[in-house]
Amino acid sequence: MTMYQCSLCNQTFYSPVLTERHQAEQHPGQNGAVIALNFKCPVCGLEFGHPGSVRNHALLSHGVHNVDVAAQPVG
Ligand SMILES: [Zn+2]
Ligand SMILES: [Zn+2]
Repeated sequence: MTMYQCSLCNQTFYSPVLTERHQAEQHPGQNGAVIALNFKCPVCGLEFGHPGSVRNHALLSHGVHNVDVAAQPVG
């Protein structure tokens, strides 16, 4: 499943519509961007928009250093 991430607070949503609504409510007046998430954590399967985010998440959430981050097909 493709997830979408608010670039302003890194919260994730199941659709770009939900992300845009969130940005309108939580970050009014800020230029938010919706990122299609296509990098997956090999430990728990969470998806992120950037491989560095996966490594950061894996380190913080699982204590795993330098995970292999495979790009997932978008959509
Ligand atoms: Zn946000
Ligand atoms: Zn994970």
